[in-house]
Amino acid sequence: MKISLLTFSHFIHFLSSLHRWRCCSLLPSSLLLGHSAMLLQPRLLPRVLFISSKPRFSPFSTHASQITIPLPSQPILSPLTPDSDLDPSTQNPITLPLQKLFVPPETQLPGDATSASAHTRVLTGSNIVLGPYAYDSQVVNAEFVKSSVRTADCPSDGLPEFALVGRSNVGKSSLLNSLVRRKKLALTSKKPGKTQCINHFRINDKWYLVDLPGYGYAAAPHESRLNWEEFTKDYFLKRETLVSVFLLIDASIPAKKIDLDYASWLGQNQIPMTIIFTKCDKRKKKKNGGRRPEENAETFQSLISEFFESTPPWIMTSTVTNMGRDEILLHMSQLRNYWLKH
Ligand code: GDP
Repeated sequence: MKISLLTFSHFIHFLSSLHRWRCCSLLPSSLLLGHSAMLLQPRLLPRVLFISSKPRFSPFSTHASQITIPLPSQPILSPLTPDSDLDPSTQNPITLPLQKLFVPPETQLPGDATSASAHTRVLTGSNIVLGPYAYDSQVVNAEFVKSSVRTADCPSDGLPEFALVGRSNVGKSSLLNSLVRRKKLALTSKKPGKTQCINHFRINDKWYLVDLPGYGYAAAPHESRLNWEEFTKDYFLKRETLVSVFLLIDASIPAKKIDLDYASWLGQNQIPMTIIFTKCDKRKKKKNGGRRPEENAETFQSLISEFFESTPPWIMTSTVTNMGRDEILLHMSQLRNYWLKH
Protein backbone atom coordinates (compact mmCIF):
# COMPACT_ATOMS: atom_id res chain seq x y z
CA MET A 1 0.00 0.00 0.00
CA LYS A 2 1.57 3.28 -1.01
CA ILE A 3 0.72 6.79 -1.99
CA SER A 4 2.60 7.81 -5.05
CA LEU A 5 3.58 11.18 -6.47
CA LEU A 6 1.96 13.13 -3.69
CA THR A 7 3.79 16.20 -2.50
CA PHE A 8 2.91 18.47 0.34
CA SER A 9 2.32 21.37 -2.04
CA HIS A 10 -0.06 19.29 -4.11
CA PHE A 11 -2.03 18.46 -1.02
CA ILE A 12 -2.22 22.10 0.05
CA HIS A 13 -3.32 22.94 -3.47
CA PHE A 14 -6.00 20.26 -3.21
CA LEU A 15 -7.28 21.60 0.10
CA SER A 16 -7.36 25.17 -1.14
CA SER A 17 -9.26 24.02 -4.23
CA LEU A 18 -11.80 22.33 -2.00
CA HIS A 19 -12.05 25.49 0.03
CA ARG A 20 -12.52 27.68 -3.03
CA TRP A 21 -15.14 25.32 -4.33
CA ARG A 22 -16.92 25.18 -1.02
CA CYS A 23 -16.96 28.97 -0.79
CA CYS A 24 -18.70 29.00 -4.15
CA SER A 25 -21.19 26.45 -2.92
CA LEU A 26 -22.13 28.53 0.16
CA LEU A 27 -22.11 25.44 2.31
CA PRO A 28 -21.28 26.17 5.92
CA SER A 29 -18.48 24.19 7.47
CA SER A 30 -14.82 23.96 8.09
CA LEU A 31 -12.14 23.91 5.45
CA LEU A 32 -11.69 20.20 5.48
CA LEU A 33 -15.29 19.16 5.22
CA GLY A 34 -15.44 16.82 2.23
CA HIS A 35 -16.83 18.27 -0.95
CA SER A 36 -18.82 15.11 -1.48
CA ALA A 37 -20.94 15.96 1.53
CA MET A 38 -23.68 17.16 -0.73
CA LEU A 39 -24.12 13.69 -2.07
CA LEU A 40 -25.59 12.79 1.26
CA GLN A 41 -28.27 15.29 1.92
CA PRO A 42 -29.91 16.63 -1.16
CA ARG A 43 -32.95 17.65 0.81
CA LEU A 44 -31.01 19.63 3.37
CA LEU A 45 -28.24 20.99 1.21
CA PRO A 46 -28.87 22.96 -1.95
CA ARG A 47 -29.44 20.32 -4.60
CA VAL A 48 -28.58 22.65 -7.41
CA LEU A 49 -24.98 22.72 -6.26
CA PHE A 50 -24.57 18.98 -6.34
CA ILE A 51 -24.28 18.38 -10.02
CA SER A 52 -23.71 20.39 -13.09
CA SER A 53 -23.14 19.37 -16.66
CA LYS A 54 -19.41 19.97 -16.30
CA PRO A 55 -17.06 19.43 -13.37
CA ARG A 56 -16.32 22.78 -11.73
CA PHE A 57 -12.81 22.21 -10.62
CA SER A 58 -9.86 20.09 -11.36
CA PRO A 59 -7.28 20.60 -8.68
CA PHE A 60 -4.65 18.33 -10.11
CA SER A 61 -3.15 17.57 -13.41
CA THR A 62 -4.00 13.99 -14.35
CA HIS A 63 -0.89 12.41 -12.90
CA ALA A 64 -0.30 14.79 -10.05
CA SER A 65 -1.61 13.19 -6.89
CA GLN A 66 -2.94 9.79 -6.37
CA ILE A 67 -3.61 7.25 -3.74
CA THR A 68 -3.25 3.52 -4.21
CA ILE A 69 -6.29 1.69 -2.91
CA PRO A 70 -5.73 -1.97 -2.19
CA LEU A 71 -8.27 -4.45 -3.41
CA PRO A 72 -9.58 -6.83 -0.80
CA SER A 73 -6.39 -8.87 -0.69
CA GLN A 74 -4.97 -6.11 1.48
CA PRO A 75 -7.81 -4.99 3.74
CA ILE A 76 -7.28 -1.37 4.73
CA LEU A 77 -9.72 -1.43 7.55
CA SER A 78 -9.07 -4.84 8.92
CA PRO A 79 -10.18 -3.99 12.46
CA LEU A 80 -13.51 -2.83 11.07
CA THR A 81 -13.99 -5.64 8.61
CA PRO A 82 -13.32 -8.68 10.75
CA ASP A 83 -15.29 -11.17 8.70
CA SER A 84 -14.20 -10.12 5.24
CA ASP A 85 -13.68 -13.31 3.29
CA LEU A 86 -11.83 -11.97 0.35
CA ASP A 87 -9.92 -13.79 -2.29
CA PRO A 88 -6.32 -12.59 -2.30
CA SER A 89 -5.55 -14.00 -5.71
CA THR A 90 -4.98 -11.97 -8.86
CA GLN A 91 -5.90 -8.63 -7.35
CA ASN A 92 -4.18 -5.44 -8.37
CA PRO A 93 -4.39 -2.30 -6.30
CA ILE A 94 -6.52 0.54 -7.66
CA THR A 95 -4.73 3.84 -8.04
CA LEU A 96 -6.93 6.88 -7.58
CA PRO A 97 -6.35 10.61 -7.68
CA LEU A 98 -7.27 12.10 -4.30
CA GLN A 99 -9.98 14.18 -5.93
CA LYS A 100 -11.78 10.97 -6.86
CA LEU A 101 -12.21 9.90 -3.26
CA PHE A 102 -15.64 10.20 -1.67
CA VAL A 103 -15.10 12.15 1.53
CA PRO A 104 -18.17 12.09 3.78
CA PRO A 105 -19.18 15.21 5.68
CA GLU A 106 -17.38 16.15 8.85
CA THR A 107 -14.46 13.96 7.82
CA GLN A 108 -10.95 15.27 7.92
CA LEU A 109 -8.40 13.95 5.52
CA PRO A 110 -5.16 13.31 7.37
CA GLY A 111 -3.04 16.45 7.58
CA ASP A 112 -0.04 14.66 6.16
CA ALA A 113 -1.39 12.82 3.15
CA THR A 114 2.03 11.49 2.28
CA SER A 115 2.09 9.42 5.42
CA ALA A 116 0.68 5.94 5.72
CA SER A 117 -2.25 7.41 7.63
CA ALA A 118 -3.66 8.96 4.45
CA HIS A 119 -5.06 5.72 3.17
CA THR A 120 -5.92 3.97 6.39
CA ARG A 121 -9.41 5.38 6.26
CA VAL A 122 -10.36 4.33 2.74
CA LEU A 123 -12.69 1.35 2.57
CA THR A 124 -11.20 -1.62 0.77
CA GLY A 125 -12.03 -1.92 -2.93
CA SER A 126 -13.78 1.45 -2.98
CA ASN A 127 -13.17 5.20 -3.16
CA ILE A 128 -14.93 5.80 0.15
CA VAL A 129 -13.21 7.47 3.07
CA LEU A 130 -14.51 6.34 6.41
CA GLY A 131 -15.80 9.18 8.57
CA PRO A 132 -16.95 9.62 12.16
CA TYR A 133 -20.50 8.42 11.44
CA ALA A 134 -19.51 4.88 10.49
CA TYR A 135 -20.86 2.80 13.37
CA ASP A 136 -23.66 0.36 14.07
CA SER A 137 -23.21 -1.19 10.65
CA GLN A 138 -23.95 -4.90 11.12
CA VAL A 139 -27.33 -6.43 10.33
CA VAL A 140 -28.84 -8.18 13.33
CA ASN A 141 -32.31 -8.77 11.98
CA ALA A 142 -34.14 -8.21 8.74
CA GLU A 143 -37.77 -8.64 7.86
CA PHE A 144 -39.91 -8.09 4.83
CA VAL A 145 -42.43 -5.34 5.58
CA LYS A 146 -44.47 -4.57 2.49
CA SER A 147 -44.72 -4.21 -1.27
CA SER A 148 -45.99 -0.90 -2.59
CA VAL A 149 -47.06 0.06 -6.05
CA ARG A 150 -46.94 3.80 -5.42
CA THR A 151 -44.53 6.02 -3.51
CA ALA A 152 -47.44 7.24 -1.41
CA ASP A 153 -48.06 3.67 -0.19
CA CYS A 154 -44.52 3.18 1.16
CA PRO A 155 -43.97 2.95 4.94
CA SER A 156 -44.55 6.26 6.68
CA ASP A 157 -42.55 5.78 9.89
CA GLY A 158 -39.75 8.11 8.74
CA LEU A 159 -36.90 5.59 8.97
CA PRO A 160 -34.00 6.22 6.57
CA GLU A 161 -33.74 3.95 3.56
CA PHE A 162 -31.43 2.80 0.77
CA ALA A 163 -32.80 1.66 -2.57
CA LEU A 164 -31.14 -1.12 -4.54
CA VAL A 165 -31.67 -0.90 -8.27
CA GLY A 166 -30.06 -2.44 -11.32
CA ARG A 167 -30.57 -4.27 -14.56
CA SER A 168 -32.25 -7.67 -14.38
CA ASN A 169 -29.68 -10.35 -13.59
CA VAL A 170 -27.13 -7.87 -12.22
CA GLY A 171 -27.06 -9.75 -8.92
CA LYS A 172 -29.46 -7.62 -6.87
CA SER A 173 -31.19 -10.48 -5.05
CA SER A 174 -27.87 -12.14 -4.32
CA LEU A 175 -26.52 -8.90 -2.87
CA LEU A 176 -29.60 -8.27 -0.77
CA ASN A 177 -29.43 -11.79 0.67
CA SER A 178 -25.72 -11.38 1.32
CA LEU A 179 -26.19 -8.06 3.12
CA VAL A 180 -28.77 -9.50 5.47
CA ARG A 181 -27.06 -12.92 5.61
CA ARG A 182 -30.28 -14.69 4.70
CA LYS A 183 -30.38 -17.12 1.81
CA LYS A 184 -33.83 -16.36 0.59
CA LEU A 185 -35.07 -13.05 1.92
CA ALA A 186 -34.90 -11.43 -1.50
CA LEU A 187 -37.06 -14.19 -2.93
CA THR A 188 -39.93 -12.23 -1.45
CA SER A 189 -39.34 -9.61 -4.12
CA LYS A 190 -39.27 -12.24 -6.86
CA LYS A 191 -42.67 -13.70 -6.04
CA PRO A 192 -45.28 -13.17 -8.71
CA GLY A 193 -46.96 -9.83 -8.28
CA LYS A 194 -44.08 -8.32 -6.32
CA THR A 195 -41.42 -8.01 -8.98
CA GLN A 196 -42.84 -4.70 -10.14
CA CYS A 197 -43.24 -3.28 -6.65
CA ILE A 198 -41.25 -1.21 -4.23
CA ASN A 199 -40.32 -3.83 -1.62
CA HIS A 200 -39.36 -2.65 1.86
CA PHE A 201 -37.18 -4.74 4.20
CA ARG A 202 -36.75 -3.37 7.73
CA ILE A 203 -33.25 -3.81 9.17
CA ASN A 204 -32.62 -3.86 12.93
CA ASP A 205 -35.94 -2.01 13.32
CA LYS A 206 -33.98 1.12 12.43
CA TRP A 207 -33.72 1.48 8.66
CA TYR A 208 -34.91 0.04 5.37
CA LEU A 209 -33.34 -1.71 2.43
CA VAL A 210 -35.61 -1.19 -0.54
CA ASP A 211 -35.65 -3.54 -3.50
CA LEU A 212 -36.79 -1.81 -6.67
CA PRO A 213 -37.78 -3.59 -9.88
CA GLY A 214 -34.93 -4.58 -12.16
CA TYR A 215 -34.86 -2.63 -15.40
CA GLY A 216 -33.91 -3.66 -18.93
CA TYR A 217 -35.69 -7.00 -18.84
CA ALA A 218 -36.15 -7.65 -22.53
CA ALA A 219 -39.07 -10.03 -22.10
CA ALA A 220 -41.16 -7.55 -20.12
CA PRO A 221 -44.15 -6.16 -21.98
CA HIS A 222 -43.55 -2.64 -23.25
CA GLU A 223 -46.39 -1.18 -21.18
CA SER A 224 -45.24 -2.58 -17.87
CA ARG A 225 -41.68 -1.41 -18.62
CA LEU A 226 -42.94 2.14 -18.99
CA ASN A 227 -44.90 1.78 -15.78
CA TRP A 228 -41.85 0.70 -13.80
CA GLU A 229 -39.92 3.64 -15.10
CA GLU A 230 -42.68 6.02 -14.10
CA PHE A 231 -43.09 4.78 -10.58
CA THR A 232 -39.41 4.28 -9.80
CA LYS A 233 -38.65 7.80 -11.03
CA ASP A 234 -41.52 9.10 -8.93
CA TYR A 235 -40.06 7.23 -5.94
CA PHE A 236 -36.56 8.69 -6.50
CA LEU A 237 -37.86 12.21 -6.82
CA LYS A 238 -40.41 12.18 -3.99
CA ARG A 239 -39.29 9.79 -1.29
CA GLU A 240 -38.21 12.04 1.55
CA THR A 241 -36.49 9.30 3.55
CA LEU A 242 -34.35 8.02 0.68
CA VAL A 243 -30.75 8.53 1.80
CA SER A 244 -29.05 7.11 -1.28
CA VAL A 245 -29.75 4.96 -4.31
CA PHE A 246 -27.40 2.01 -4.68
CA LEU A 247 -27.09 1.45 -8.40
CA LEU A 248 -25.79 -2.04 -9.21
CA ILE A 249 -23.58 -2.36 -12.27
CA ASP A 250 -22.22 -5.67 -13.53
CA ALA A 251 -18.44 -5.16 -13.67
CA SER A 252 -17.82 -8.47 -15.39
CA ILE A 253 -19.07 -7.04 -18.69
CA PRO A 254 -18.55 -3.74 -20.52
CA ALA A 255 -20.88 -0.82 -19.70
CA LYS A 256 -24.37 -1.11 -21.15
CA LYS A 257 -26.20 1.88 -22.54
CA ILE A 258 -29.22 1.34 -20.33
CA ASP A 259 -27.00 1.47 -17.21
CA LEU A 260 -25.29 4.63 -18.43
CA ASP A 261 -28.71 6.18 -19.09
CA TYR A 262 -29.92 5.22 -15.63
CA ALA A 263 -26.85 6.62 -13.89
CA SER A 264 -26.94 9.84 -15.85
CA TRP A 265 -30.64 10.28 -15.12
CA LEU A 266 -29.88 9.96 -11.39
CA GLY A 267 -27.03 12.43 -11.80
CA GLN A 268 -29.02 14.97 -13.73
CA ASN A 269 -31.83 14.75 -11.20
CA GLN A 270 -29.42 15.11 -8.31
CA ILE A 271 -30.40 11.88 -6.64
CA PRO A 272 -27.62 10.74 -4.30
CA MET A 273 -26.11 7.59 -5.73
CA THR A 274 -23.58 4.96 -4.76
CA ILE A 275 -22.37 2.63 -7.49
CA ILE A 276 -22.10 -1.02 -6.53
CA PHE A 277 -20.00 -2.92 -9.03
CA THR A 278 -21.16 -6.56 -8.91
CA LYS A 279 -19.60 -9.88 -9.93
CA CYS A 280 -16.06 -8.60 -9.43
CA ASP A 281 -14.86 -12.17 -8.91
CA LYS A 282 -15.44 -12.87 -12.61
CA ARG A 283 -12.15 -12.24 -14.28
CA LYS A 284 -12.21 -12.89 -17.98
CA LYS A 285 -8.92 -13.61 -19.64
CA LYS A 286 -7.35 -10.78 -21.61
CA LYS A 287 -6.44 -13.06 -24.46
CA ASN A 288 -10.15 -13.81 -24.88
CA GLY A 289 -10.93 -10.14 -25.23
CA GLY A 290 -12.31 -9.88 -21.70
CA ARG A 291 -11.64 -6.87 -19.57
CA ARG A 292 -10.96 -6.93 -15.88
CA PRO A 293 -13.76 -5.75 -13.54
CA GLU A 294 -11.63 -2.77 -12.50
CA GLU A 295 -11.26 -1.73 -16.12
CA ASN A 296 -15.00 -1.99 -16.75
CA ALA A 297 -15.67 -0.07 -13.54
CA GLU A 298 -13.24 2.68 -14.51
CA THR A 299 -14.73 3.02 -18.00
CA PHE A 300 -18.23 3.20 -16.55
CA GLN A 301 -17.21 5.98 -14.20
CA SER A 302 -15.51 8.02 -16.85
CA LEU A 303 -18.56 7.70 -19.12
CA ILE A 304 -20.90 9.11 -16.48
CA SER A 305 -18.51 11.62 -14.93
CA GLU A 306 -19.82 14.61 -16.84
CA PHE A 307 -23.17 14.24 -15.09
CA PHE A 308 -21.68 14.57 -11.61
CA GLU A 309 -20.11 17.49 -9.87
CA SER A 310 -17.92 15.20 -7.81
CA THR A 311 -17.11 11.52 -8.02
CA PRO A 312 -19.93 9.39 -6.60
CA PRO A 313 -18.97 6.76 -4.04
CA TRP A 314 -18.38 3.30 -5.48
CA ILE A 315 -17.60 -0.17 -4.12
CA MET A 316 -16.40 -3.34 -5.87
CA THR A 317 -18.36 -6.40 -4.72
CA SER A 318 -18.87 -10.10 -5.19
CA THR A 319 -21.42 -12.27 -3.46
CA VAL A 320 -19.25 -15.28 -4.26
CA THR A 321 -16.28 -14.06 -2.21
CA ASN A 322 -18.19 -11.58 0.03
CA MET A 323 -15.97 -8.81 -1.33
CA GLY A 324 -17.48 -5.43 -0.45
CA ARG A 325 -20.20 -6.69 1.86
CA ASP A 326 -18.91 -5.13 5.07
CA GLU A 327 -17.79 -2.08 3.15
CA ILE A 328 -21.32 -1.49 1.85
CA LEU A 329 -22.71 -1.81 5.36
CA LEU A 330 -20.14 0.60 6.78
CA HIS A 331 -20.85 3.07 4.00
CA MET A 332 -24.59 2.77 4.59
CA SER A 333 -24.06 3.31 8.31
CA GLN A 334 -22.16 6.54 7.83
CA LEU A 335 -24.69 7.91 5.35
CA ARG A 336 -27.56 6.87 7.61
CA ASN A 337 -26.13 8.15 10.89
CA TYR A 338 -25.26 11.47 9.32
CA TRP A 339 -28.75 11.71 7.81
CA LEU A 340 -30.34 10.98 11.19
CA LYS A 341 -28.30 13.66 12.93
CA HIS A 342 -29.14 16.43 10.47
P1 GDP B 1 -31.11 -10.21 -10.03
O1 GDP B 1 -31.95 -10.58 -11.21
O2 GDP B 1 -30.48 -8.88 -10.22
O3 GDP B 1 -31.82 -10.33 -8.71
O4 GDP B 1 -29.86 -11.21 -10.03
P2 GDP B 1 -29.58 -12.54 -9.17
O5 GDP B 1 -29.15 -12.21 -7.77
O6 GDP B 1 -30.76 -13.46 -9.29
O7 GDP B 1 -28.30 -13.11 -9.93
C1 GDP B 1 -28.29 -13.37 -11.31
C2 GDP B 1 -27.21 -14.40 -11.63
O8 GDP B 1 -25.92 -13.85 -11.35
C3 GDP B 1 -27.32 -15.65 -10.80
O9 GDP B 1 -26.96 -16.75 -11.61
C4 GDP B 1 -26.30 -15.46 -9.70
O10 GDP B 1 -25.79 -16.67 -9.18
C5 GDP B 1 -25.22 -14.67 -10.43
N1 GDP B 1 -24.47 -13.81 -9.51
C6 GDP B 1 -24.98 -12.89 -8.65
N2 GDP B 1 -23.99 -12.27 -7.97
C7 GDP B 1 -22.82 -12.80 -8.41
C8 GDP B 1 -21.44 -12.55 -8.08
O11 GDP B 1 -21.07 -11.72 -7.25
N3 GDP B 1 -20.51 -13.30 -8.77
C9 GDP B 1 -20.86 -14.21 -9.71
N4 GDP B 1 -19.87 -14.88 -10.32
N5 GDP B 1 -22.14 -14.47 -10.03
C10 GDP B 1 -23.13 -13.77 -9.40
